[in-house]
Amino acid sequence: MKKHISKAEAQEKIDEFFRQKELDAKYVKKIKRLAMKYNIKLGKYRKRFCKKCFSDLKKGKVRITKTHKIVECRKCGERNKFRIM
Ligand SMILES: [Zn+2]
Repeated sequence: MKKHISKAEAQEKIDEFFRQKELDAKYVKKIKRLAMKYNIKLGKYRKRFCKKCFSDLKKGKVRITKTHKIVECRKCGERNKFRIM
């Protein structure tokens, strides 16, 4: 993992990771670190995982308000708020 990769390669890795149906919290953390290192914005991918414990939010409870979508993490109970554009 010490190998130096280009930003494009890092982006490709990230895209590939989020194409998976289920995300593993352990790897989400790694991918997030990779994105930070290469200054890559996760954008829409941020909605896929809990900001606190990094687990997959797909199965979380969803509530919609006028301005936000709130997804409650099934693992840690954190409410992840996303602004609705
Ligand atoms: Zn969580």
